Parts: sequence; structure tokens; C-alpha cells
Amino acid sequence: MSNFANSRPPTDWVSSSLRTCAPIVLCLVMACLSQAGETSLCIERCAVFDPESGKMLPERTIVVRGEQIVAVAALGEGVDVPADAVHVDGRGKFALPGLIDAHVHLVHVLDFAHVTGDEVLPLYLAAGVTSLRSTGDEIVAATLVARFAAAHPASSPRVFTCSPLLDGEPPIHRDVGRAVTDPAQVAGVLDDLQRWHVTTLKIYAGTGRDVGRTIIDEGHRRGLFVTAHLGKYSAQQAVADGIDGLEHIWSVFNYVIPPQVAAQPGHRGTLDLDNPLCDALVAELVRSKTYVDPTLAVFRNMILLPDVPEVRDSPDNDLAPRRLREFWPTYLQRSGCPQGGTLEQRRREFAKYQELTRKLFRAGVLLLAGTDAPEPQVPPGFSLHQELEMLVESGLPPAAALRSATLHNATALREQERLGSITPGKLADIVLLAANPLDDIRHTRRIELVIRGGIVCRPADLLKLVPKD
Ligand SMILES: [Zn+2]
Repeated sequence: MSNFANSRPPTDWVSSSLRTCAPIVLCLVMACLSQAGETSLCIERCAVFDPESGKMLPERTIVVRGEQIVAVAALGEGVDVPADAVHVDGRGKFALPGLIDAHVHLVHVLDFAHVTGDEVLPLYLAAGVTSLRSTGDEIVAATLVARFAAAHPASSPRVFTCSPLLDGEPPIHRDVGRAVTDPAQVAGVLDDLQRWHVTTLKIYAGTGRDVGRTIIDEGHRRGLFVTAHLGKYSAQQAVADGIDGLEHIWSVFNYVIPPQVAAQPGHRGTLDLDNPLCDALVAELVRSKTYVDPTLAVFRNMILLPDVPEVRDSPDNDLAPRRLREFWPTYLQRSGCPQGGTLEQRRREFAKYQELTRKLFRAGVLLLAGTDAPEPQVPPGFSLHQELEMLVESGLPPAAALRSATLHNATALREQERLGSITPGKLADIVLLAANPLDDIRHTRRIELVIRGGIVCRPADLLKLVPKD
């Protein structure tokens, strides 16, 4: 170990090796070394985003040993750098904690398109998304995808699995749903899911209050995060019953619809932001520290505005396998999208979703950043950058949007001790950017390197691993 103040500056061989040698090989070499716990990495003098303060801390040196961050030092502070460390020149660069997508499916929709979850994993990592929170999938297939991801850390994000969609009879999505119709069934279902090591339980739209409340209670007894895509069970009831999170901004205003109307199959209410019940619910969400995951990407790209050229023709879509892209129009049609009337009416509806997101943020509700990829035109990976852009457009400062996609999402995974910030002791999941995302959130796309558990990868090489067909 040597002191950083006396250590050598970034050497040419390292800088040039990162520029010119086949980076896949570099990835693999670092993966092997990393697994042996021997690789060290030193990113010198980059700015580091701190999600707690929302600040970009200048001139920091990050030291990584194996898969863990061991030091983050300001300029002039002494820091031990292993003599064999690979050096990366971070001057003029901006380090973000690895991004986390809080709402993805690694089986659902892909199954219809004949794509397997492992095929899209490199697409996430290429976008700087180093962890995924699955939010409802068929458990055997999802577990296999998670095992594949764990066995291929140089090309995959970390995958945290979820229960199937715990729903009424019959489940709305038969491919990934599981009917739980009686509170007496809940404990047995959860015992089974615990053996699959799920992190999250997801209540779905056909579940009523009696079963929903039991899932929350039994889930908490097992230390699991319970979230919901609400329907029959209103947000007011779920929050009163202690739910941890609500998926989709629509779940929140569902509260202001009379329950007997909301319970009608296929009902979509109209958001009334001026309804005093809405303010009462927002206050309750703040008090109870319930997370809300707006998933604006799926509302814009699939449900409300899929026919708008900038959505339909987004270059982000082109990165997904052809089988998925070609399936999207079929699934849009099958799902009756776009929903909600004329283009003008739909634009107004989406504007209200963004207004509600702003209202939640300003009131102090904890927001997550999730996308619902791979629903139609919500491409795995880069749709999280779209979500960040839409959160900022809704009125969140860039730092708040980034806090959602890092620390808040890590906390919803109960992984805040290991993920969500660039802090000694946490896992070395880092995205190195060429421009400051606090100046313009679109700079999150200017990714130079993605580091996943100490393994250094380049986006262009990861994209080559995604099937084109
Ligand atoms: Zn979903």
C-alpha cells in the first residue's frame, strides 16, 4: 500500500489500455481478478455526486479494492492506494453512484416477444444501470435471470427479484400473476416466496383490502418491502395499512375515485388535483414515509402518447432486440393503447401526471425512479434516463431526480448499506460521466465507463452483447 500523495499519476499504459485494448478482454480480466479479490482501481480527481447533500463534490479520488469502495478522498487528503491499482484519470469527469431502475420486468412482456431476460441485461449495464428492482414476474424464470446476472457480473446489473403479481382470481396478467383470494392463504404463499429469496412483494389491481392488509403484515414480519399497483385496494387504505411503496403515479390519485367506481374492471379515473382528498393523501404519504414510484416513462411511452413521433422513433428504442421492438405495436394494440381520447386530451392528462409528481416532491414524498421496462417503447436501460428527464421536467432539481435513482431506490431494496452512494464500505457501482448532470440531466447519457462491483466496462462493448435480432 502506498500513500496517494506520493503515488504515481495516471500512467500512460493504463490510460491507453483503457482507450485502446479490447475492453471486453479488460472487463473479463478485471472480472477474474476482482473475483479473486485482488484488483484495485483508483479513479483520480473526479467530481463525485453525493445523493445525501445533492452536491457534486470536486476533485475526489475513489479507491476500489475488489468489489468494494475503500476510500473517497478530497484533494490533499492522504489516502492509501494499493501499488498494483489500475489508475483512471478522472479529471473533468463526474462520478455517479450506479443507477438503479426501481421498476422493471425480466420475464413479463419479454416472454410474449420470445426474448429471455438475460439477453437485455447488458443493455441495462450499458446505460449505467447497475441494479434492477424487479416488480412482479414469474418466479422460476425470474430467479434464473437473477442467477445468470450474478454469474455474469461483467455484463449484467445486480438483479433483485419480486413476487409474482399477487392478484385476484383470475390474475389480470396470467403469465406473471398469482391469485391470492383469501387472507388465510397469504402466510403459505409468502413462505414459498421467501424460499425464492424475493426482496419485494407486489400487490396487484385485483386484490382487495383484506388480502392486501394481510400481505403487508406478513411481508413485514419477514422483512420484505411491500409495494402495490393498486386497483380495488385504495391508496388511502393501503397507506393506512402500512404499505411501503406505491407503483405508478396513477395508484396515488386512484384514491380520489370512489372505491365502487375504481373497482370496476378496466376503470381509469380522471385525476383531480384540486380534490381536497388528494391533499389529504399527499400529507399521509409524507407522514408515513411511503415511497411513490411514478413510472412516467410507461405512462408517456406506452399508455398516453405512444403515437407521438419523438416517443415512437426514439433512438433509445433501436438498442433493444428486434423481436422486442417488433412485438411492441402488437402489445400496444392488445392493451388498447393509446388510452384517453384525442392527442390533446392525452397530452393534458400526462401533464397532470407530471403536475402530481411535482406536488408529491414539493410536499416531501419520497420518490423512486422506475420505468416499467420492457413495456412497449420503454426500452430496457436508457428509459431510466428518459424517466430522469421527465422527473426534472416535472419540477425536480436534477440532484433530486438522481437521489431517487440512487439512494432512494437502494433504500427500497433495503440495500442502502451496500448501494446508492459512492461511500467507503459500499459496493463499487459507479458511472463515470463526461459532463455534469446537475447542469443538464441529459448528461447522464454521456457515459464513459460503467463500474459494476469494481469491474470496469465500456457502454459500446456492452451494447455489442445485446442481440440485434
Ligand atoms: Zn410493471
